[in-house]
Amino acid sequence: MYAIRNIRLCTKDCACLFVCPTGATDTETGQIDKDKCLDGCRRCVDACPSHAISLVMDNYPVHPPKNPEVKEALLAFMDRKYAEELQVRAIANASKGTNGTKGTNGARLAKALAASIRTVAEDCAREADFLIPQGKASRELLQRLLAEKPQVAGKVFPEAELQELLGLL
Ligand code: SF4
Ligand code: SF4
Repeated sequence: MYAIRNIRLCTKDCACLFVCPTGATDTETGQIDKDKCLDGCRRCVDACPSHAISLVMDNYPVHPPKNPEVKEALLAFMDRKYAEELQVRAIANASKGTNGTKGTNGARLAKALAASIRTVAEDCAREADFLIPQGKASRELLQRLLAEKPQVAGKVFPEAELQELLGLL
């Protein structure tokens, strides 16, 4: 194991500098020097008043492969959840308010239900080893890929698929 410092939590009171026997915590970069860390002796972890230091493992266990049948079932379930989400969102849209009002209670309930169905679908996708998180970062990544179209020898750039994905996220 070795120690890492979360620089956002560090208040720079330097307690870790005094307790570390190797000087691993005293770095100009703000990060603990992994090569000097003594197998995670944790003196710095216990000394830090801001809980900015944690220990992490050198090697993490390899993620075991999923049974293909389980994966297929998860993806089929995810597809069903996606269809349900579309239906519920349609109900929410049909009864939503106009002119900036929040809409009926039914619309709000449908919206909440759609979000909950989406969470279940995302869990299935994650369990099936496939998930692209929704959000600005994912959209920007896809837009960049579409703009740059990186080429891989022997492969066709999947432009249509990326466009479709971008439309769904
Ligand atoms: S003891 Fe904690 S808060 Fe203080 S310098 Fe070290 S990491 Fe930062
Ligand atoms: S775990 Fe021990 S050796 Fe490693 S940085 Fe902290 S005090 Fe130093």
